Amino acid sequence: MNAKPLLLTAALSVLSVPALAAAPKKPAAAPKKPAPTLLPPSFYNAPSFPQNARPYEMLLAKNQYARDQSCRFNKILRGNTHHPQIALTFDDGPHPVYTLQLLNILRRLHTPATFFVVGEQVEKNPGLVRLEVAEGNEVGDHTYDHVNLTLIPPELVAYEVGRCNAAITKATGAPVRFFRPPGGEYNGEVLREVAGHGYITTLWTNDPGDFSKPSSGVILKRTLAHLENGGIILLHDGIPETLEALPGIITAARLRGYQFVTVSQLAHPLKTK
Ligand SMILES: [Zn+2]
Repeated sequence: MNAKPLLLTAALSVLSVPALAAAPKKPAAAPKKPAPTLLPPSFYNAPSFPQNARPYEMLLAKNQYARDQSCRFNKILRGNTHHPQIALTFDDGPHPVYTLQLLNILRRLHTPATFFVVGEQVEKNPGLVRLEVAEGNEVGDHTYDHVNLTLIPPELVAYEVGRCNAAITKATGAPVRFFRPPGGEYNGEVLREVAGHGYITTLWTNDPGDFSKPSSGVILKRTLAHLENGGIILLHDGIPETLEALPGIITAARLRGYQFVTVSQLAHPLKTK
């Protein structure tokens, strides 16, 4: 008799958002790498890093590319399409002037958001990041220097997210679970590296291109044109036109039946999908 035990095969989630409950691992006490050599400041300051509106189709294509390359590491593009929930996300802050105005709007309209902050800015304005968390928002990692991660070696990717994480944790005491690559620039190596440190890479479904500072009316119109269940809206902290458009976005979305949640809340139902 050869009674082999039955192997139960577990269905793997296609959505690659495993272990949501787990906190990000600290850079493990694994093999010690030499301290990364920083790139020259001219690299970080180079204006060659476009952040203009990225066509949704391009994002989908990149997502497909990552899938084809088996790069399904801890990545979220959208929430559950059966739930009328939306996540507002604000990148590139905190800003010494506009972040407070943004928080005032969110507080007045009882709307949570997720801030993908830049580590260097966090170190300059830790109180603002603390306030973001204290008011029920979520804070994610957007690297320390806002650098294109596809152009630097993996050890510098780890340095960029790790130093930003350290700045956030020092300011808020809160764990950092979500990461957004500056400019939406990522590849398999970047995803693998940040997933190895426990982050969930967060992309978006709705990009009204506020970074290029169109009028508030254009931002409002573009955003409302792409509202959808499980949507993630990409906006930026520090843009006055975005502040003007925001109350209209929130009010109109609520009238259409959407509920605003943080990225954590948006991602949560995906665990079982
Ligand atoms: Zn950015």
